[in-house]
Amino acid sequence: MKIHEYQAKEILRRYGVKTSDGIVTDSADGAAAAYETLGAPLAVVKAQIHAGGRGKGGGVKLVRSAAEARAAAALILSKPLITHQTSPEGQPVKTLLVERGSDIEKEYYVGIAIDRKTQSPVMMASSEGGMDIEEVAAHHPEKILRAAFGANGALADSEAERLARGIGLPAANVADGVAFMKSLSKAFVDLDCALAEINPLILTKDGRVLALDAKINFDSNALYRHPDVVALRDLAEEDPKEIEASKFDLSYIALDGDIGCMVNGAGLAMATMDVIKLAGGSPANFLDVGGGATKEKVKEAFKILLSDPNVKGVLVNIFGGIMKCDVIAEGVIGAVREVALKVPLVVRLEGTNVREGKALLEGSGLPIITASDLNEAARKIVAAVKA
Ligand code: GDP
Ligand code: MG
Repeated sequence: MKIHEYQAKEILRRYGVKTSDGIVTDSADGAAAAYETLGAPLAVVKAQIHAGGRGKGGGVKLVRSAAEARAAAALILSKPLITHQTSPEGQPVKTLLVERGSDIEKEYYVGIAIDRKTQSPVMMASSEGGMDIEEVAAHHPEKILRAAFGANGALADSEAERLARGIGLPAANVADGVAFMKSLSKAFVDLDCALAEINPLILTKDGRVLALDAKINFDSNALYRHPDVVALRDLAEEDPKEIEASKFDLSYIALDGDIGCMVNGAGLAMATMDVIKLAGGSPANFLDVGGGATKEKVKEAFKILLSDPNVKGVLVNIFGGIMKCDVIAEGVIGAVREVALKVPLVVRLEGTNVREGKALLEGSGLPIITASDLNEAARKIVAAVKA
C-alpha cells in the first residue's frame, strides 16, 4: 500500500526525521494562504500523487510570492499530472503540499528495501540524490552503498556512520546523517514497510540535513497490525479494478496488453502471461482467482476483466486440484451467460474431472473455444484476438 509524501513525512517526523515545515491544501487560494503562513521568501508547491518523478512532470514548483503560489497551485490542479511512473493519461491532483523552500547545498539518496537474498531490510545510500536511483544503479553501481540490518532492530550506529561518511556528508553533519538513517530504519521495521525512500535527502546551505521528499510503501500482508496506516489509504490513487478485485479476495494487477487472463495460483498466472507473450500476444492483466475459486469469484473476475476496454479476448487457464474441473466449467458457463461476453474466450482446464468439465463447456452452446494445453490455449487466444 502506498501513501502520499505529506503523510509519509508526518509519520517520519514522529520518528525524529527532520523535514521542512509544510501545509496541506486542496485549492489555489489555500496555497496562497499557506505561502503567507509559512512566511518564507521561497516556498515549494508540490502535487500529492502516489507516483514519483513529479518534479520533471511539472508537479513541483518553486514560488516567491503568494500570487506565484496561487498560480502554481491552480496550474497543477488544473490537469492530470503525467510522470514516468503514472499511466500515459496521468493522475488527477487533488491535494497539494506547500513547503517552506530550502536552499540546497547538495542532494543525496537514502532508501530502504527488502533484500530477498539475505531476507533482511537493506539501506542504500548514494551521493547521487535527486535523480532516478535506477539510473545510478545501472551506470554507477559503485556509487550506491549498502547496509543490511536485522528485521528486529534498527541499523547499527557503525553502519549508519559508514554510509553517512561514504556518501560524502561533511564531517560536521555525519551525526545528523546517522540520526536520520537510524530513525528511518526504525520506522521501516516498526511499520512493516516494503519500501522507504528519501530522494533527495538534502544538506542545506545553512548546514541542516532534511528529508526533502519521502515515499513509503507498506507490506499489505502486515496491514492488519497497523490500522492507523490503513486509515491513510487513498482509494482515488488506486486502479478501480484492483479495488474491486480486493473486495472479492482476487489478486488483480492491470497491465497494458489486450488479452485478459483468469488463472488460479500465482505461479500459473505468471506462466500463463509468459506463454501468451511467447505466442506473440500481450496480457492485459494478472489475475489470480485463488485455489478455492467459487462460481461467484469466477463471475466477479470476469466482470473485472471485461470492464477493461483494452481487453480484446479472454484466456481462462485453471488447474482443478482442490476445485474440480466440472465445477469450474459450471462457474465459467454461468459467468459467461450473465456478463454477455462480446470477445473471444479460450478455456483450458486441467486436473480432476477434466473430461466432465470439457464436456460441459462444449455442450453449453456458448462460443467458448477449448484447449488441451497451455501452448495451444495461448496460440488460440492470440489468433482469435488478431482475427
Ligand atoms: P519527485 O520529482 O516526485 O521525486 O519530487 P521531489 O520532492 O523529490 O522534488 C523534485 C525536485 O524538486 C528535488 O529534487 C529538488 O531539486 C526540487 N525541490 C523540491 N523542494 C525544493 C526546495 O525546497 N528548494 C529547492 N531549491 N528545490 C526543491
Ligand atoms: Mg523525489
